[in-house]
Formats: sequence, structure tokens, C-alpha cells
Amino acid sequence: MITKDEINDILRRYETKKITIGTLGSHSALNIFKGAKEEGFGTICVCKRGDEIVYQSFPLADEVILVEDFNELLDEDIQQRLRQTNTILVPHGSFNAYIGTEKIMDELRIPLFGNRELLRWETDREKQREWLQKAGLTLPKTFKDPNGIQGLVIAKFSGTRGGKGYFLANSPESFHKKARDMIKRGHLRREDLEDIHLQEYIIGVNVYPSYFHSPLTNEVELLGIDKRYESAVDNIGRIPASEQLQIALNPTYTVIGNIPIIVRESLLPEILRMGENVVKISKEIAPPGIIGPFCLETVITDGLEIFTFEISARIVAGSNVGIGTSPYAYLNYGEGMYMGRRIAREIKIAIKTNELEKVVY
Ligand code: AMP
Ligand code: AMP
Repeated sequence: MITKDEINDILRRYETKKITIGTLGSHSALNIFKGAKEEGFGTICVCKRGDEIVYQSFPLADEVILVEDFNELLDEDIQQRLRQTNTILVPHGSFNAYIGTEKIMDELRIPLFGNRELLRWETDREKQREWLQKAGLTLPKTFKDPNGIQGLVIAKFSGTRGGKGYFLANSPESFHKKARDMIKRGHLRREDLEDIHLQEYIIGVNVYPSYFHSPLTNEVELLGIDKRYESAVDNIGRIPASEQLQIALNPTYTVIGNIPIIVRESLLPEILRMGENVVKISKEIAPPGIIGPFCLETVITDGLEIFTFEISARIVAGSNVGIGTSPYAYLNYGEGMYMGRRIAREIKIAIKTNELEKVVY
């Protein structure tokens, strides 16, 4: 495992007047690059061949390193180039999805904006539950064994997959039948069933608040809220129920995009407290706790109860709805603040106050 001392050594060799902000070209890269530019940083993008059209159409990356596969981020020549350009990497969902936590922890010798140890907590569902429970959040019930299913459950699989392959079941029988069906339709592999997570399905609406914790000021800010737009579940209402029954329609949860939302103001006290409590516990389980962005994935019921089913201890793609501004960011900053920029702002302040070591790991 790469130690904080190693990262500090790398940082000491950096020219802090010439810091570059880098990331993988996907997920929330445009958000991160735009924010970096607006705060006066250079930017560097590690981009998959074929995807460079994005960074040509939106020319926010000063340097684009083309790779065949995101895994090449770990190649020594690429890492060297990143250190040469004094790069701080901002991790996002594609880091977990395409590189994996272990490799990030063991092989990525580049300062990351964020707490590496929490990436591990975030990708382990059991650890995640422990963290959220300690923070006093309300979680959906879970079932260890498909044969114990009672009531409606959602079946989830490991890794950041954006809901791909998830399905609903309301009994052991319907679980086994649907699992076979999902495999047949190519949404799942047989081996995925070995690492299954069964969660009580909460009927309500999705609400994803994005927060930012500054280790410099020790404050937690709410920067925006979104909901996901998922295929096909979000549009099955367009098909009449009679047709749904005839084709035995089985909803899927592949995320396609995100939609900004504003919640009832009376929900804000709890949403704000939840963010603060999660940060407080993160400091106990993985000091110094969350650095920068995080998101709670919740479902709010018609009784206004907030269930949290997941946490992301990094920037989420849902924060892209706030590029430019979001109402919540506006309330604090006026125009022009959003997650990518808030990250760059934190790095800028840390450089000025000589506290970079507090924000990179
Ligand atoms: P991608 O690079 O688009 O494949 O995304 C990397 C990971 O983040 C994948 O596992 C996606 O499922 C997830 N992801 C990408 N975009 C979003 C989004 N808008 N909302 C939630 N998750 C996302
Ligand atoms: P996840 O990959 O865990 O973020 O979940 C993907 C999608 O599945 C969410 O956006 C929700 O639409 C849905 N979902 C996940 N867990 C639950 C739950 N416990 N109750 C209701 N819906 C859920």
C-alpha cells in the first residue's frame, strides 16, 4: 500500500505554483476540468482512444494523454508524465469502475484529492453499512440469503456499475427465476450471483444530495441535489400495464443521466445533519475523514422518511447537473460555483496557505 509519507515526498518535489489538475476522461471530467480552469489551473486528461472527441468539442484539457484502456493510468511512463506536470488527480466513478480500489491503493503514485482509505470503505458494502449506521442514518434492511427474502427487495451486484443488472424480487422463487432471466438476457453473469446484495426496496423518490467537506475550514456544504434518470425503470409508466404484463416486463436500473432537484425546505435540516454526521464518523474510521466531495444516495418515502442506501466518498456524476451553478451552491456563493470548481478552489486555498498535504492522499 502506498503510504501518506510517499505521497508527501512526491508533493514536496512538486512546483506548487504550477499544479495541474488531472483525471480520467469520463464521468465528471468536464465538470472537474471546467472548475480547474476557472480557478486558473492547467488540466490534463487521460483519455480512451475514440473518446477524445469530447475534449476536442469542449476544449478544457490542456493536455490529453491517449490510452487504449484506463488501466494504463498505472503505467510508469504515464505516472511519470503526471508527476512531471505536478498533477493532482481527482478520482471519480471511473477510477473505481475501471481501475479498482486495490490498484489505486497499491500502484497509483500520484497525489489524489481525497482520502484513499475511504475509497476502500466505499467499495465494500459491509463497511459502508457500518459507517452509515454509526452516523445514525436510516438504512434499508438487508437479506443475507435469497431464500430468506420477505417483501420487495432489490438485488444488487458488486462494483460501481450504475445500476446495471439490478432487479426486483418479492420471494425466493421470483428471485431465482429473475436471476436466470437476467443472465439469459446478458444483463448479468453467473459469477455475479456470488457477490449479491439484497436490500429492502424502499418505495419513494430518489434524492442524491452532493456535499463538500473542507478539511481546511472543517465545514460541510451542500452544493446540489439531483435524481438519477434510469433506463428502463424511469419510463415504464409510458407503457400501459396490460402490455407490461404481456411482455413480463422486468425493470432495469442503468443510469443514463441525472436531473437536478430542489427538495422541500423542511427536509433540509435532516439532509444537512446527515452530511455532518457522515463526516464526523469518517474521521473516526479513516482519519482525517472525508476530503472534498461526497454524496448520499437516498430514497425519501411519502412519510418523509429518508433512507440512505449508499455513499460515494468522491465526486458523483450527479454533481454535473450543477455545472455553472446549482440553487444550493448559489445560496452560498452566488453565481458560478459547482463541484468541479469547489474542488479546484480548495486546492488553490491549500496551496496559498501551504496546506496541500491536508487535502491530498
Ligand atoms: P462511465 O465512465 O460512464 O462508464 O462511468 C463510470 C462509473 O460511474 C460507471 O460504473 C457508471 O455506472 C457510473 N456513472 C457514470 N455516470 C453516472 C451517473 N450520471 N450517475 C451515476 N453513476 C454514474
Ligand atoms: P445504486 O447502484 O445502489 O446507486 O442503485 C441504483 C438505483 O437502484 C438507484 O438509483 C435507485 O433507483 C435504485 N435503488 C437502489 N437501492 C434501492 C432501495 N433500497 N430502494 C429503492 N430503490 C433503490
